[in-house]
Amino acid sequence: MKSAISILILMIALGGIWGLRPQGENVDVLRTDEGELRIRPITHGSLMLEFRGKVIHVDPWSRGDYAGLPKADLILITDIHPDHMDRAMVDQLKKETTVILAPAAVAETIREAQIIRNGERKTVDGITIEAIPMYNLVRGPSPGQLYHTKGRGNGYVLTLGGKRIYISGDTECVPEIKALMGIDVAFICMNLPFTMPPEEAAECVKAFRPKIVYPYHYRNSDVNVFANALKGEAGIEVRLRKWY
Ligand code: ZN
Repeated sequence: MKSAISILILMIALGGIWGLRPQGENVDVLRTDEGELRIRPITHGSLMLEFRGKVIHVDPWSRGDYAGLPKADLILITDIHPDHMDRAMVDQLKKETTVILAPAAVAETIREAQIIRNGERKTVDGITIEAIPMYNLVRGPSPGQLYHTKGRGNGYVLTLGGKRIYISGDTECVPEIKALMGIDVAFICMNLPFTMPPEEAAECVKAFRPKIVYPYHYRNSDVNVFANALKGEAGIEVRLRKWY
């Protein structure tokens, strides 16, 4: 009994030191020209990528379970709303060398962020990051207003190990998304009233045809509607994962 208790105490202590967490849990692995890309959905619009020993946190948000997850080498922030820009979570995940890329509106609050504007491109640790416009075409809190105005927020295309990963941020199906080429993995938002319904997100995906698509940032949307709308589309694999 005594030894069982000491083993238990040892395990808890080591767990604390190493931040042990079942590594396979809710993680997808994608083979690239330069090794594995590990994709971990966290919650809503938040995810973590690991590539060549580097950790990328996208829109880290305190609502997610970050217990045992590593700190960031790179943090990407898409917009100013609290589910994307979370000062406390950035502080928790950053270290001395962390690079933070964000639009100018975010950098007013996250002052240590490097500003990247729609259409701009930066390279960090051999990963190229391009900022893609994300905005509403028609939806807003009142007539004449939009939830997301063009130019304020960024979606991102990451190029790493020969793969192109697109993360939409909060957007409707704008022309800049339809024009994307050669996307291997896409994370597409859907969520009314702020972005778009699943049907519209699926139509958008048909326009730029990513090889793999994850619905994310979907809250109470029916992702099966999205998946069914893409059924039979050759070369597009829909991946439903646990985001909530
Ligand atoms: Zn959002």
